[in-house]
Amino acid sequence: MKISILTICPELFDSFAASHVIRRAKELGQLELNIVDIRSYAKGSYRQIDDSPFGGGNGLILRCGPVLDALAAVLQETDANANRTYVAALTPSGVPYSQGTAESLMAVDHLVLICGHYEGMDERIYSHVDGLISIGDYVLTGGELPAMVVADSVARLLPGNLKKGSAEEESFSVLNREDGSQLRLLEYPQYTQPADFRGEKVPEVLLSGNHEAIRAYRQAEALRITKERRPDLLRDSD
Ligand code: SAM
Repeated sequence: MKISILTICPELFDSFAASHVIRRAKELGQLELNIVDIRSYAKGSYRQIDDSPFGGGNGLILRCGPVLDALAAVLQETDANANRTYVAALTPSGVPYSQGTAESLMAVDHLVLICGHYEGMDERIYSHVDGLISIGDYVLTGGELPAMVVADSVARLLPGNLKKGSAEEESFSVLNREDGSQLRLLEYPQYTQPADFRGEKVPEVLLSGNHEAIRAYRQAEALRITKERRPDLLRDSD
């Protein structure tokens, strides 16, 4: 999989590119990370990438030209074997991002993420993308952190990155129920050594070695925690 990120702050990705999950996916040959500087597609001696909004208002807006030229160049470089390309712009007014979206993006050969900045980007850019992604109901300074969130959540799911089976038990993973419906639960509580920390003991069942009892305990706990902390996940299940 290739992930291209279009940004006006490419340097913010230096340590991200060196982070464990990204480095490992690259070493396994599962991921190519391509950071593209939008500014290098700006024209004129000032290489202007932004301007004030028509109609007045605060701040600056990313212009269409440099962003769409960068996008065209990146799409042109798409490997001829890439069957599916998906282009997303990051914006607080996008569709809320979820583990389900991360799972569906794994099927993409080339994922292109466009980071806004300042007051956002010219609306006309959105008609050149496949989707708009929001990582939550708050406003960040730029799309770089959201792009890292998306890239990290997808990269860690790529084959070989996680220990076998661990993704299936994490928060928001799918639980298939006997009636054919599906649930996404939060993860059950986890403990490590020592078994007794200053009087706080690990649940006895986890020390029992009884795998069936442990599985049942964990499932019940996952359901309890989800009901308590995220009842919306139970309401949204199909
Ligand atoms: N004026 C915009 C608004 O009210 O929706 C906010 C612009 S924000 C300061 C600048 C850029 O940060 C956005 O274009 C977007 O790329 C990114 N951004 C900020 N918050 C985000 C979020 N919750 N999800 C995705 N991207 C976000």
